[in-house]
Amino acid sequence: MSIGATWAGTHVFTATRLIEATSIGQVQAAVAETTGPIRALGTRHSFNDLADTSGTLITVTGIAPDPQLDQSARTVTVGAGTRYGDLAVWLEGRGWALHNMGSLPHISIGGAVATGTHGSGVTNGCLSDAVQALEYVDAAGDLRVARRGDDGFEGLVVGLGAYGVVVRLTLDVQPTFLVRQDVYRGLSWERFLDDVPAVMSAGYSVSAFTTWAEDTLQQVWRKSRINDADAPDPTWLGARFERPEEAGLVGVPPDNLTVKGGVEGPWLERLPHFRLDSTPSNGDEIQTEYFVDLKDAAAALTAVRALSSDIAPHLLVTELRTVAADALWLSGAYGRDTLAIHFTWRNAPAAVSALTPRIEEALAPFGARPHWGKVHTMGADAVAAVTPRLADARAQFERLDPAGRFANSHLQRLGVRV
Ligand SMILES: Cc1cc2nc3c(=O)[nH]c(=O)nc-3n(C[C@H](O)[C@H](O)[C@H](O)COP(=O)(O)OP(=O)(O)OC[C@H]3O[C@@H](n4cnc5c(N)ncnc54)[C@H](O)[C@@H]3O)c2cc1C
Repeated sequence: MSIGATWAGTHVFTATRLIEATSIGQVQAAVAETTGPIRALGTRHSFNDLADTSGTLITVTGIAPDPQLDQSARTVTVGAGTRYGDLAVWLEGRGWALHNMGSLPHISIGGAVATGTHGSGVTNGCLSDAVQALEYVDAAGDLRVARRGDDGFEGLVVGLGAYGVVVRLTLDVQPTFLVRQDVYRGLSWERFLDDVPAVMSAGYSVSAFTTWAEDTLQQVWRKSRINDADAPDPTWLGARFERPEEAGLVGVPPDNLTVKGGVEGPWLERLPHFRLDSTPSNGDEIQTEYFVDLKDAAAALTAVRALSSDIAPHLLVTELRTVAADALWLSGAYGRDTLAIHFTWRNAPAAVSALTPRIEEALAPFGARPHWGKVHTMGADAVAAVTPRLADARAQFERLDPAGRFANSHLQRLGVRV
């Protein structure tokens, strides 16, 4: 049976079998009764072989979301296979919100949390940072619960599928809020590099887009919570405020994007870039992303800009975002406020393979960490050098899964599993 490929077609799965579970009991039975390697698969939005296995893949996307809201604790507990966008609609209908969203609402919560998926905002942790508790099926098929505050919990949240199948998650929620997206074009690199943290703090969630080649940034999207927002400043840092109909993005059909141009709307229709009812991003693409300390932002961006003439021909767009520091052992933002430097490449694997090591070399002085779900060429030594709690995470995975059923060649190559 062919399992198919990742969403963007960048990796064809080699697993021999896919189990589409419709209940937690089925997940437990599948883990207990199959022999050999087994790994969880989400909505396939990663770009590499991270999720793959030589044995069985199991997905929990067919298990009913069954969201349970606890208003006094300010949490929601929901099936791990649920798409963020579906949970968001359910929460909004009850007057509640998540703190942030990734660029697309189509990803499963379990898969996004497992890779440290993030949106933007200097005070916003990654999506995984909202996890209060997780229920998972362990290597023996038993159902276990881990809660914030438990020993080793921080090593399980961004867990890369390396120790079990997460079936339900409890997430922090807050009362619903309105957001406005203001798009600015033509901010000069000079003004930006002068104080990157200040620009990236000019809203609840700020994204800067560039193709590296020009003297100005292509666009800056400032997403402001309405209660914290002043009216848009048409002359902000010398950049030009865009009317709604102008606010497109290179390589993306305008109808796929959420509403911009300063029009207020609920958080779930403004924090993601892409609409739930459309194709996110471009589709025919490869993604790469690195995380550096926000205080090194200007130097790190200058180092990448030196490669701009080689990068630009193969790039659709770069997005720069921020992630607040967290304590999750394998998070890209572990222990440091972070600038995320993202590349959406044209679907040209050879060019991307040639460029990524050069970008990694340029960013090495800044201790750049790779996004686990995207394409990179860092090996075990390089990953170990920038992941302070890697050995602790690995030891916990080995203890929970001594036979290595949830290990795969990707995790072994990166030194995450033995
Ligand atoms: C168009 C596009 C836009 C994106 N935008 C962003 C963005 O804004 N920010 C960002 O940070 N990333 C972004 N990504 C990357 C994406 O969020 C991550 O790759 C994420 O892991 C995808 O979730 P998924 O459900 O598809 O997981 P998959 O790719 O299916 O799996 C990823 C990992 O999660 C594990 N996993 C999945 N489900 C479970 C489970 N139930 N239990 C245990 N482990 C599990 C898998 O074993 C695997 O290791 C984007 C990707 C695409 C294609």
